[in-house]
Amino acid sequence: MTSDKTVNAGCRKLVVDAGVRMLDSGLTVATWGNISVCDRDAGLVYITPSGMNYHEIVEDDINVYNLDGELIEGHRRPSIELELHLGMFNARPEIGACIHTHPIFSTVFSSMGQDIPIDVHDEAAQALGDSVRCADYALPGTKELALNAQRAIGDKANACMLRSHGLVCIGADLDAAFKVSTVVEMVAEILWRIRATGGDYIPISGENVAAMQEFVKTKYGQY
Ligand code: 13P
Ligand code: ZN
Repeated sequence: MTSDKTVNAGCRKLVVDAGVRMLDSGLTVATWGNISVCDRDAGLVYITPSGMNYHEIVEDDINVYNLDGELIEGHRRPSIELELHLGMFNARPEIGACIHTHPIFSTVFSSMGQDIPIDVHDEAAQALGDSVRCADYALPGTKELALNAQRAIGDKANACMLRSHGLVCIGADLDAAFKVSTVVEMVAEILWRIRATGGDYIPISGENVAAMQEFVKTKYGQY
């Protein structure tokens, strides 16, 4: 199927390269996890194929959909989480990338159904938008999972967990979504280690969380 909307080979390459990055960074294993980018100008979503080796996926394996989920171009069976990705892009118009992974420490919390609070650590406060809430359980690849994830992520958070499954991170682009994935996993490990000592963290005040969120928007990094 083709369309008058312009399919962009560059977006396909971004998704292919991100798949290798996701696997090599240890955020997931084997063929699990999935990645998409949304070209907002064209209203098109590019997504990884289902169950393929990330080191073997090529640009031609990336299917392209419109935001209503109609296939625009591609011949592969897409990720079973296509609906999850489309749901994120439709609910959060400011984002351009979505990464779903199964990282160890985040999945410890997701399997306990426990949220990862934003006030644990400065980097969480700066990068996560809100606490990382755990969605109610639903089977992989279902509409229910997509809806539960949308509810959990809300309109401020950059990540949510899928119960007994993994993590979903969003961002303006793939780099932003990878940064969120890495920070969530790091904070999950910190929290796990804190709890392993039998202790608990000292929450950063709401005022300081808000101050850091403002600071990263206006003063951190280069012009
Ligand atoms: P896909 O290989 O179909 O993307 O499924 C992997 C996964 O993690 C499902 O939740
Ligand atoms: Zn998954």
